[in-house]
Amino acid sequence: MPEITEEPVVEQQDFPEEITEIIVEEDEEPVEMLQQGFEDFEKHLQLKVDSSKQPEPYDVLHISRLVSLEKYFEAKQQGKKIQNRPFSQSGKQVKSSVKIAIVIDDMGASPSRSNEISAIKAPLTSSFVTFASRLNHQVEKAKKSGHEIMIHVPMQPKSDIFVSDDVLTVKMSATQISDAFEKMLKKFKDAVGVNNHMGSELTEHSDKLIPVMKLLAKNKMFFLDSKTTPNSQGEATAKKYGAPSVHRDVFLDNNNDLEYILGQLEKTEKIAQKEGYAIAIGHPKTQTVRALKVWIKTLKDKNIRLVPLSEIVYAELAPE
Ligand SMILES: [Zn+2]
Repeated sequence: MPEITEEPVVEQQDFPEEITEIIVEEDEEPVEMLQQGFEDFEKHLQLKVDSSKQPEPYDVLHISRLVSLEKYFEAKQQGKKIQNRPFSQSGKQVKSSVKIAIVIDDMGASPSRSNEISAIKAPLTSSFVTFASRLNHQVEKAKKSGHEIMIHVPMQPKSDIFVSDDVLTVKMSATQISDAFEKMLKKFKDAVGVNNHMGSELTEHSDKLIPVMKLLAKNKMFFLDSKTTPNSQGEATAKKYGAPSVHRDVFLDNNNDLEYILGQLEKTEKIAQKEGYAIAIGHPKTQTVRALKVWIKTLKDKNIRLVPLSEIVYAELAPE
């Protein structure tokens, strides 16, 4: 029962080109937050880190993802049941530390706004639009801060607003969708998964999602259903065609208002505490950047870990 079913349309005024305040200074103590987020990765992997050389956060993240991805597909191959919400479903006590993934959609649409998100050194998940200018350059900035990278795939909404030239529509044949989606995948070399930009119409059509899910499975990538319609066939279709999938729990910033966004983050925490993890989607808006900066600092005391989305997708294995 999501109370908001359509992704908020990002208006141009949400992206003033001049930066009015510096949210994260470049030389701000970088890595405390990041270390915290990655500590467990290293432990989990027993990475033999050369102590004379600090690994780049993104490399640690990338290695960790590959390991959990292998584990995931191995378990699947052995016919083990993969369960994404083992805590709530089994009724067991939630682990002492719960996980939250924050996915920032629409990255790359406005370089200046996106830069403010990319400057936040924390394990956020940045989902870049396929039509961003200087895409690789923008992606590199987010990676430098330790963000995980996703592709924000434009899909047809119910309203007839212009989405993008490369939008996937219900009028396209399976082959056309497959070709168009493959082109998008080729633009990115480090993306771990995709989620839908808009898509309240297309995601209701399972047959149009099949080519997408097949290519995701082939490329060992996952699908995050943004849930822009309560009737989305995203997760069901992904499951059927072998692509790991999860869905958004909370939209953070339908109002570009600090108090509202902090409230949505609190709502996300409550879901995580109940279910073991939660997934929220935000956008590169002024107040979202501010809210995240404030909120991230509070996590340690709350025993909540901000994690890249793939950690939620692949780590929660619950073999039968
Ligand atoms: Zn979007």
